Amino acid sequence: MIDAQSSMVEITHLEKRFGAEIAVEDFNLSVGKGEFVTLLGPSGCGKTTTLRSIAGLEKLDAGEIRIGQNIVVSADKNIFLDPELREIGMVFQSYAVWPHMTVFDNVAYGLRVRGTKASDLKKKTTYALELVGLDHLADRFATKLSGGQQQRVALARAICYEPNVILFDEPLSNLDAKLREQMRDEIVKLQKEVGITSIFVTHDQSEALVMSDRIVVMDKAVIQQIGDPKSIYSNPVNSFVANFIGVANLFQGKLIGVEGTECQIEINFGNALATKKLLSTGGDNLNLGQQVFLSVRPEDIKLSTKKSTGNVEANCIEGIVLDTVYLGNFLECRVKIGSHEMIVQIDHFEQLDKGQTVYVSFLPQHGLTLPN
Ligand code: ATP
Repeated sequence: MIDAQSSMVEITHLEKRFGAEIAVEDFNLSVGKGEFVTLLGPSGCGKTTTLRSIAGLEKLDAGEIRIGQNIVVSADKNIFLDPELREIGMVFQSYAVWPHMTVFDNVAYGLRVRGTKASDLKKKTTYALELVGLDHLADRFATKLSGGQQQRVALARAICYEPNVILFDEPLSNLDAKLREQMRDEIVKLQKEVGITSIFVTHDQSEALVMSDRIVVMDKAVIQQIGDPKSIYSNPVNSFVANFIGVANLFQGKLIGVEGTECQIEINFGNALATKKLLSTGGDNLNLGQQVFLSVRPEDIKLSTKKSTGNVEANCIEGIVLDTVYLGNFLECRVKIGSHEMIVQIDHFEQLDKGQTVYVSFLPQHGLTLPN
């Protein structure tokens, strides 16, 4: 938890509407100094609107935002600072470099408009260009650069005048897959080196998992969960988060027993199979008899041609192989269980045939009980 004193960005009760539609509802977030926080969610969930509100490109319907020591916007106090007064750097999806300027002048822009003296301007701009590996192209016109290089110019421009925070709006989505990965790693390295507070918007969960100190998962204008990548992946708070981050097998059922950390869920797998009772963890704050989801990750499921015994016995279900997909270092196998399907990750050397009977099993501690 970041206290208000040590945070660089403090957002309280942000609300933004477009006509009757609520784009962001009661959004609360503290971003620590030097922290890398990602807003992650499907298209239309409100992440760009949140970022634009921080930048001063949207007016708020309610709430307040503080950056550094300054309240930059407050609906109650009627405060609104223009974007250029908010001490922020921005990196967009479209590189937004100025075509009539050289790489050096693009990067130096923020310092120049702030009246920085010439010797400091040269020193800081050169340093920023060195950080992104473009010092040798300082005199080239910005349009005569590749997409990746233009994005590096945008990055150097954003950090050059040492703003309080950098806002990234899907900066990698115009790059091809390989370059995207390379730039992703470069941004993280640079961000840690410079120690600049960063808020990053993406709908790509793997990008969010790799890059972030913390992730804010949003859906339908509302924050669903805030946490570090590991806790978001291992302990999603609801079925939306479980399904959005990585692959999750979700089965709806009824909570019929809770004992310590273990609970029992009754799942109707459809006509072919009788109702099955499975053991799972979680279930805190849930009531017996309530409809819940059992979530289990593909990599936590064992698949066998023989019925399992031992610890996993309680959670062993018979199914039929639908298909297998080769994904390089592993196979993804779809198994039909009654009217349900399950995705299981298995070793790449396994040989399974379509229509074959198999047994899937998982340990109770790998099942997670989530609210419906
Ligand atoms: P994407 O990943 O597609 O950019 P997003 O999560 O960033 O999506 P927003 O762009 O913040 O979502 O949009 C949130 C909601 O607000 C959407 O329903 C969108 O249609 C609506 N919205 C955003 N900007 C405007 C606008 N200028 N006028 C009207 N509605 C808008």
